[in-house]
Amino acid sequence: MPEGEPGTKKAMSRIEGCIAFLQRLIQTRSMPGEEGDLAALVASEMERLGYDEVSVDAAGNVIGLVRGRGEAPSVMFNTHLDHVDAGDPADWPHDPFGGEIHDGLLWGRGAADIKGPLAAQVYGIAALAAAAERPAGDVYVTAVVQEEVGGLGARYMADTLAPDLTVIGEPSRNEVRRGHRGRVEIQVRVRGRMAHASMTKIGRNPLTVIGRFLAALEGLDLPDDPDLGRATIAPTLIGTDQTSANVIPGEATLTLDCRTVPAQTGETLRERLLPVLRAGDIEGTESDILIPVHARVSYAGYEMTYPADNPAHAIASDHPAITTVVDVLDPVLGGPPPVDVWDFATDGGHFSEAGMIVVGFGPGDDRLAHTVSEHIEIDDLEKGMRGNEALAREWPSRYAAVS
Ligand SMILES: [Zn+2]
Repeated sequence: MPEGEPGTKKAMSRIEGCIAFLQRLIQTRSMPGEEGDLAALVASEMERLGYDEVSVDAAGNVIGLVRGRGEAPSVMFNTHLDHVDAGDPADWPHDPFGGEIHDGLLWGRGAADIKGPLAAQVYGIAALAAAAERPAGDVYVTAVVQEEVGGLGARYMADTLAPDLTVIGEPSRNEVRRGHRGRVEIQVRVRGRMAHASMTKIGRNPLTVIGRFLAALEGLDLPDDPDLGRATIAPTLIGTDQTSANVIPGEATLTLDCRTVPAQTGETLRERLLPVLRAGDIEGTESDILIPVHARVSYAGYEMTYPADNPAHAIASDHPAITTVVDVLDPVLGGPPPVDVWDFATDGGHFSEAGMIVVGFGPGDDRLAHTVSEHIEIDDLEKGMRGNEALAREWPSRYAAVS
């Protein structure tokens, strides 16, 4: 039986409310640094749905709370407010900011990453708020800023809000995720000597060093983690200080996207790669490796600088946090959900680093994230909403009982 909401003549079922909310979320653009309108929309919806407390913190993150009885650990359901660029709308089958529904699929930028999962968390936990039901422990629903550009919002929240358990709502096809590799960005810089391109004996070409380094990377043995698989390094950007094709450049830069396992940090990667790079130096070149530092400001005016270093995290598949999540979701999803790791990094690394137990669960297909085919199945959205509701009701006390 669909539950109605008080005060409406023909009561909307909760999934209908969730769908309409998701459409409004998609229609409200929220690129990193521009999430103000979306934050206001999420906060006002939480208030309307009867959350006990709704606030926006100094970074601009939205925090909703359904207060518990203090008899179980607190749990946070977390997603983010921002999305990546939609590119050319002409490349999409439907308007990326329309929130249109066709054949049971809801289309648009953010449908899977992350507005579908955000709606499924806000409306899943709304079941507890509307029933004026006190869950065993406090239940937070949070949506943070700037996840797509290094996690300013989550970095701030990890220092200011301390729930015991966290459900990261990044799309997981309603499966359970127990971690992911980290992401470190590395910049390789090689200085040489600029010269007329006809005078190769006078110039010291930094691209020669970059070329040797790229070849050496191919054969590098990287750590293999039993939980997360092998670390990887992908060269992504290359540039020189030149725009003329007939000049040997004075400097060349190379960017590496490194997917790390828990033992690795930006610093350990630098120590590993620097000798490999310098082994390829030619007489007269100088090489170095840097971890870029990003300076970001949120829509709320909060400033932060941080290195391009997002930590990996993982918990074992037989950890009580995972087994209890699977047990709670089993009856809701019609069978035990598969447990796996995510390919991509999430804000979960920041929360895990702050000492929280982090588990992933969200509707939507992660393989559609950041594409022009982004959509979510309405059925998937509803299952995600009901899964979140069950997790909010049962997971903290079940986990406390066995850990
Ligand atoms: Zn995301």
